[in-house]
Amino acid sequence: MQADETDDSDISAPKVIRLLVVDDDDVDRERIRRLLSRAQSEYEILDVGSGAEAIDMLLATQLDCVLLDYHLGDMTGTDVLRRINAEGIVTPVIMVTGVGDEQLVVETMRLGVYDYLPKKKLSGKLLSDAIEASLQRAALEQRLAEMQQKLERMSLYDELTGLPNRNLFFDRLNQAILNAERKGGRFALLMMDLNLFKEVNDTLGHEAGDEVLAEIGSRFRQISRKSDTIARLGGDEFTSILHGVDSIEGAVSIARKIIAAVNEPLAVSGNVLQVGVSIGIAVYPSHGDEASSLLTNADHAMYQAKRNLSDYVVYGEHARYPDAASGSVPVSNYLHKAMDEKELYMMYQPKINLVSGAVVGVESLLRWRSPELGRVCPDQFIPFAERSALIERITFATIAMSLDQLSAWQAQGMPSVPVSVNLSARMLDDIGLPDRVLHELESRGLQPADLILEITETALASSKARAKQVLTALAAAGVGISIDDFGSGFTSFRYIRDIDISEIKIDRLFVKNLSEETRDISIVRSIASLSESMDVRVVAEGIESKQNWRLLTELGCIHGQGFCISQPLPAEQFMQWYRAAG
Ligand code: C2E
Ligand code: MG
Ligand code: MG
Repeated sequence: MQADETDDSDISAPKVIRLLVVDDDDVDRERIRRLLSRAQSEYEILDVGSGAEAIDMLLATQLDCVLLDYHLGDMTGTDVLRRINAEGIVTPVIMVTGVGDEQLVVETMRLGVYDYLPKKKLSGKLLSDAIEASLQRAALEQRLAEMQQKLERMSLYDELTGLPNRNLFFDRLNQAILNAERKGGRFALLMMDLNLFKEVNDTLGHEAGDEVLAEIGSRFRQISRKSDTIARLGGDEFTSILHGVDSIEGAVSIARKIIAAVNEPLAVSGNVLQVGVSIGIAVYPSHGDEASSLLTNADHAMYQAKRNLSDYVVYGEHARYPDAASGSVPVSNYLHKAMDEKELYMMYQPKINLVSGAVVGVESLLRWRSPELGRVCPDQFIPFAERSALIERITFATIAMSLDQLSAWQAQGMPSVPVSVNLSARMLDDIGLPDRVLHELESRGLQPADLILEITETALASSKARAKQVLTALAAAGVGISIDDFGSGFTSFRYIRDIDISEIKIDRLFVKNLSEETRDISIVRSIASLSESMDVRVVAEGIESKQNWRLLTELGCIHGQGFCISQPLPAEQFMQWYRAAG
């Protein structure tokens, strides 16, 4: 009902109808004015005597209808109509002419004339009825065109993100292949899947999920070059055709840009999330010379990326250490050797009370000095270790090294300062972990409270019931549990309530941007106050400036770690630093 009412008003004639009368005969023009002055509708009538003037007028002014004579001094009605069509003018035209030639009627009708009125029979009513009908038809046609456009958009674009959808994507992909085939060119295809999307949907609901998709879509639109296509295939799956990117390096650098854009924290329904993305890269024609094989291979690489916990994988290069000199030996080969030949060691970074300066803990950070690969950061090799049983060996090696070191420091007179060890998510699957950890402590005469295990927030969010059981057992025994990189993953205080967490470490991303972004300030402030209310210690990571140090204490975050306090140090240097600080 409502819709019908709007429909009617939409197509009703405008209140004052702006008419253009085109006739080279002054008397005829005057006659039309006179006839229409008696009609019911109100008209604003402009008139011109030539075709050229008519076109100029139509281009310059908004008009509702044109009454067009056939024989004009400078051109015929047919000429005028052709020009009107060529200019894309959509104003309805009614022929008003003395020429009664049937063929002419057909010809002008074909050129889009709405009606044909013979001058001889002209009356006010005839004119106004024809104008009214033409205006209604024009309005209807316009609505039809709009609807058609909308339908077209709907069939080619994804409503939620505004990105091209599957249909348009496949069309563009086939086009890209044809083009590349013809010119012998190359292009890259990226398959992308968000990492924690399912968790968002499950925990915060589908509306939040939609918000995430819309935000990610808008980031994709911002970063994509005009020539490239980023499309949403469905769910949390996206894809991109990078035209003109003809090298793997080029594709990787764009993939990195996309990863950075997705990794920026996003605010959804009062939560701050970082969903992350896994990208598979395939290049035409090396990794497939038709749409289906190219897609399958990019997809394959994407799943490999997910399994490896790497951000991206190039098809055919999975399970390779990305920066290894040769680029061809799997990193796990080197890692086995590293374990046996003791290339792994720990560095230690103090954690202090930002107000009093007192040392409240020390975090042990794993280092790998490889004769073949050089210095490798844990971020680069832990994901590989996690895919095999190696992670277990590495974890217990790090726990043993850290606890040995703590015993040594205690023997040198350092009072009880707990050591924090980073724990890989994979280890939480092992139900025997708590007993083994407690045994490591006992065998050195250390207390459970001497050890804090750091687990990243992302690991917690995606972990299963088993992980909860393992953490609960550890916490019950008195081992400290710390949530690392808090705020960068799937921020939810639910886990803190469920498990007896003793510490939260605010991700250094928030700390870094503290002075520039007010949003980060409010995130840090709310994490600090929520944690305080739950009796959980808050530690800021990555403090690099005195300014941030001060700001953090003002925001209620009184513990911290960072280069500004101390870089991670070798064991002996840590003791020197500790003595100097004390
Ligand atoms: P994390 O646990 O969040 O460790 C803090 C990281 O921030 C360390 O990098 C540290 O060197 C760095 N850092 C400290 N202060 C600052 C600062 O002021 N500015 C900046 N930009 N960075 C700072 P690192 O040692 O490369 O470790 C990276 C990540 O690797 C760690 O993040 C942790 O998640 C993981 N990791 C480190 N050691 C181990 C380990 O023994 N086992 C496992 N499973 N993971 C480890
Ligand atoms: Mg840590
Ligand atoms: Mg951290």
